[in-house]
Order: sequence, then structure tokens, then C-alpha cells
Amino acid sequence: MASTPVSGDVLVRATVLRDIARHAEQAAPNECCGLLIGTGAGVESVHPARNLRQSPTRYLVDPADHFAAIKSSRQAGLVVVGAYHSHPTSSAWPSQTDEQEASDADFLYLIVSLVTGETRGFRLVEGRLQAVPLRVAGCSLSGKVRRSSG
Ligand SMILES: [Zn+2]
Repeated sequence: MASTPVSGDVLVRATVLRDIARHAEQAAPNECCGLLIGTGAGVESVHPARNLRQSPTRYLVDPADHFAAIKSSRQAGLVVVGAYHSHPTSSAWPSQTDEQEASDADFLYLIVSLVTGETRGFRLVEGRLQAVPLRVAGCSLSGKVRRSSG
């Protein structure tokens, strides 16, 4: 099954943001990373991965974890729609390295900052990571969306 690129506003479950923030705190002072599981409409869950670089400023998703994410998402009728990583000491904007190493135009890239607590989404457009608006879904992505207040 081919993955459908996420377009427009991206729906992200509140539990996804919570799980990413928790992973980021556990991995600190190093960056954490993992895969985003969902549909063309949004992100349903995360699949944490090992950061092969074990670095506070770089990440490399363990390919074995990437394959495991593809396999388990397929079993759930979902696909890998993107990847996330943390910035333990900087803002939630892509670094030069992030931009250089981003290669998948279909991917949604989420970055969480442990400095500001923000999570931002980006997509690769003409070689640059462009910010995409995230919308937080309360319960189910397929059901009625409850937007977070504020
Ligand atoms: Zn980064």
C-alpha cells in the first residue's frame, strides 16, 4: 500500500504529542527519534526508535526500528506517515542538518523542543523543510474532532 502524503492542516492526536514529549524527556540530554503512524488524514500513534547517533544535536532512526514500524502499522491498516525527533537545547525549528538529511517528500517531520515545549510540523518542499499547521485531535481522527482550547 502506497502512503498518502499528508496535505493541508495535519491532524495529530493529543496522545501523540504526549508520547513524543515523554520520549524526549527520557532520551535527554540526547535527541530522541521515532516514526509517526497514521493515515493520509493525520497521525494516530508513534513508534519510538533508537537514535543510532546517541547525540544531543543529531539523530538517525535505527533502520530495524523503521522496518518494525512499517510492519506493525501495516497490521493495523495504517502507514508510516513521518518521523519525529527532539531538540533538547534548541527551538522546534529544523537545524541545517535536519534539512540536509530530510529526504522523503511524503514524510511529515515533527520536532519537539525541550526548551519551549513546542512541537512543530514540517514537510519537505523543494529541498526545504516548510512549516505545516498542526491540529490537535482529542479522541479519534475519524470521529468528530475536539480542538484544544486556546
Ligand atoms: Zn533536529
